[in-house]
Amino acid sequence: MSELELVFPDGAIKTFAAGTKPLDVAESISKSLAKKSVSAKLNGAYVGMHDVIPASGQFQLITTSDDEALDLLRHSASHLLAQALKRIPKFSNIHFGVGPFIENGFYYDTDNGAGNQVSVEDFAEIEAMMHKIVKEDLPIVSREITREEALSMFKDDPYKVELINDLPAEEKITIAVQGDHIELDKGGLVPSTSWIKHFKLVSVAGAYWRGDSSNHMMQRIYGTAFWKAADVEAELQRRQEAKERDHRNIGRDLDLFFTSQEVGSGLPVWLPNGATIRRQVERYIVDKELSNDYLHVYTPILSNLNLYKTSGHWEHYREDMFPPMDMGDGEFLELRPMNCPSHIMIYKHKPRSYRELPMRIAELGMMHRYEKSGALTGLSRVREMTLNDGHTFVEPEKLEEEFKSILKMMMEVYEDFNITDYRFRLSYRDPKNTAKYFDDDEMWEKSQKQLKTAMDDLGLDYFEAEGEAAFYGPKLDVQTKTALGGEETLSTIQLDFLLPERFDLSYIGEDGKDNHRPVMLHRGIVGTMERFTAYLIEMYKGAFPTWLSPLQVQIIPVNLGAHGDYARRIQQQLQVAGLRANVETKDAKMGYLIREAQTKKVPYTLVLGDNEVADETVTVRQYGSEKTETISIAAFEKLILADVARYSRE
Ligand code: ATP
Ligand code: ZN
Repeated sequence: MSELELVFPDGAIKTFAAGTKPLDVAESISKSLAKKSVSAKLNGAYVGMHDVIPASGQFQLITTSDDEALDLLRHSASHLLAQALKRIPKFSNIHFGVGPFIENGFYYDTDNGAGNQVSVEDFAEIEAMMHKIVKEDLPIVSREITREEALSMFKDDPYKVELINDLPAEEKITIAVQGDHIELDKGGLVPSTSWIKHFKLVSVAGAYWRGDSSNHMMQRIYGTAFWKAADVEAELQRRQEAKERDHRNIGRDLDLFFTSQEVGSGLPVWLPNGATIRRQVERYIVDKELSNDYLHVYTPILSNLNLYKTSGHWEHYREDMFPPMDMGDGEFLELRPMNCPSHIMIYKHKPRSYRELPMRIAELGMMHRYEKSGALTGLSRVREMTLNDGHTFVEPEKLEEEFKSILKMMMEVYEDFNITDYRFRLSYRDPKNTAKYFDDDEMWEKSQKQLKTAMDDLGLDYFEAEGEAAFYGPKLDVQTKTALGGEETLSTIQLDFLLPERFDLSYIGEDGKDNHRPVMLHRGIVGTMERFTAYLIEMYKGAFPTWLSPLQVQIIPVNLGAHGDYARRIQQQLQVAGLRANVETKDAKMGYLIREAQTKKVPYTLVLGDNEVADETVTVRQYGSEKTETISIAAFEKLILADVARYSRE
C-alpha cells in the first residue's frame, strides 16, 4: 500500500502518503487544528499524534474541545505519575499495576514494598517531579512489540508480567514510550508530556490487585487533571465539599453508626445518636401511615423458601438473596429479600370482601440482600435493611386512584423533611433481557402504560429508564443525589398484576362471588431506614432540624457545683416534655464547651450561671448563631416545642 485513504467525519475523503502521522494530517488542514488535536482515531482505534497511521479508513481527530479528550489527558497523567515515581530514588524500584483514567481523574496502582509505600506526604515531591517532566516536553509514541520483548522489558515488574501472560495469544501488544519511561498500553494518550500541565494528586488508598481480596494489597494513588488550572481548583473544592457532606464521615464525627469487618460487611451498627434519628423517622412514618388507613403489622424476617418459590423471587431474584438455611429436617428457611410475600400471607389469611379494599398493609420490614461487596457504602447500600414497606391490595379499577393517593402522601412526607431535590423515574423492564422479568408482554405493556398515564394526568415531570423495573412490574422511583455525585432511589411505588396471580389472591365482589382478582401496589415512602438516614445526613450536613437531632439541648452550667442542680432540674423538665437534653459535666473552659456543642451541631445550647439561677432563666444560643438571649424556662420550652412541631428547619 503506497497511499492512505482517510474518510473524515463529514464524509470528505483525502489521500495521504504512506507513513503519514495524525499530526501531519492536522497540520495539512490548519495550524490551529494541529495545536488543539490531542489524538486521532482510525476505525475507532486510537492513533497517537506522533504515530504512523497504519491503514486507510474512517479517520477522526480528537481535539481539546471533545469531552473524550479529558479522558486521554487523565490517562496520560497516570503515566506521568508513574514516570515521576521511577525518577525519585526511594521509589526507583516501585512496581506498577494498572493506571486508568476514571470519572473526574485517574489513578495508578503501585507497590513499593511494605514499609516504603507512597504516602500523601510524598505528593509534593512527586508533583514537582511530574512538573519537571512536563517541562521536558517528551513526545509520547506507541509501538507494537512481541510477547518476548514485552516480557523482557517488564521483567522487573511482576504485576505487568502477569498482565502480559494473561493476554490472549492473538492479542497485539503495544507500548507507549515517553523519554526514559515505557508503559504497557493500548493508546489514547496526549502527544507529549507538555500537554499535562494542570493536575493534582489527591489521595492514596489500599486496593487489592485485580480487585480480589485474596491478592496482594497495592497502593492506589488518585489524581485529577484538567485543561485549565481553574478547573482543577473547582474540582478540588467539589471534592472537599463532598467529603464534608459524606454521611460516612459525618456518621463517624457525630457517633451515629459504624460498620466493621468484625461484625460483617454491609451490616451497620446504629449507635445511640443514629438510633435516635432513625427512631424519629420510624415514629413519624408509622403515624403518618396510620392516619392514612394503613394497617401496621410485624412479620418474620425469615420464612420457608417455598414462599419465595411461589412468589418468583427464587427464580428471578436469587442472585440478590442470601443462601437458604438447610434445617436438616427437609425444611429450608430463607432470609427474606422483600416483604411482599409476608404481607400477601396476611391478605390470604381470611376471605376478603371488596368492602375491605383497598387494604393497605404496612411494616417496618427488615430484609436481607446479598449486595456485591464493592457496592456496599456506609448506610446507603447495605446487606441488612429495614424498609418502610407497604402493600395495597386494590380493585383493578381503583388502581390509578390508589397510586395517586400514595404519591400525594409521599409528597407530603417530602415536604415535612424539606426534600426538594429529586426527580421521578419511570422504571420499565428491559425488552432485550426479558429473562430477568416475569414473562407476559401484555401485562408489561398495560402496566407501563398505566403508570405513564397516571403521571401525565398529574402533570408531573419524569424520565423513563428501561431495565430498572422489579421482576413483577414497572415502578415509579424517586431519584435523589448523594454527596458522592451518584443518584439513588429513595422512594418507590410499584404496580403488580403478577403476585396476586401467583398466590391466587381473590376477593368477594359486589356480585357475591369470591373470584375477583385484586391488583397490588408495593411502595416504600421513606424507603429503607438506612438509605433514608444516609440521605438526611448528607442533606442536612449533620445539622439536623430539632425534631430529628439526636441531642436537642446541651445544658452547660458555668460551675457544676453552684449551678449543677438547677441544670439538672431544667433537663428533667425538658425530658418530661419529650425533649432530649443533656447536662455538660466536663470540667473545661466555657468557650471550649460552647464550641464543642456547635461542632456536635446541637440545635440549642443553654448556659446557666448565677443570674440564671437567681432569676429562673436560661441563656439560649441556637446552632449556627452568635446571638444569645436570656429568657424564662417556660419561654424556652415554648420556643423549642414550637420548633419541634414545625418538623423542618427552613
Ligand atoms: P436499587 O436499585 O437501589 O438496588 P431496588 O430497585 O432493588 O434498589 P427496591 O426493591 O425497590 O430496590 O427496594 C425498595 C427500596 O429499598 C429502594 O427504594 C431503596 O430506597 C431501598 N434499598 C434497596 N436496596 C438497598 C440497599 N442495599 N441498602 C439500602 N437501601 C436499599
Ligand atoms: Zn413488595
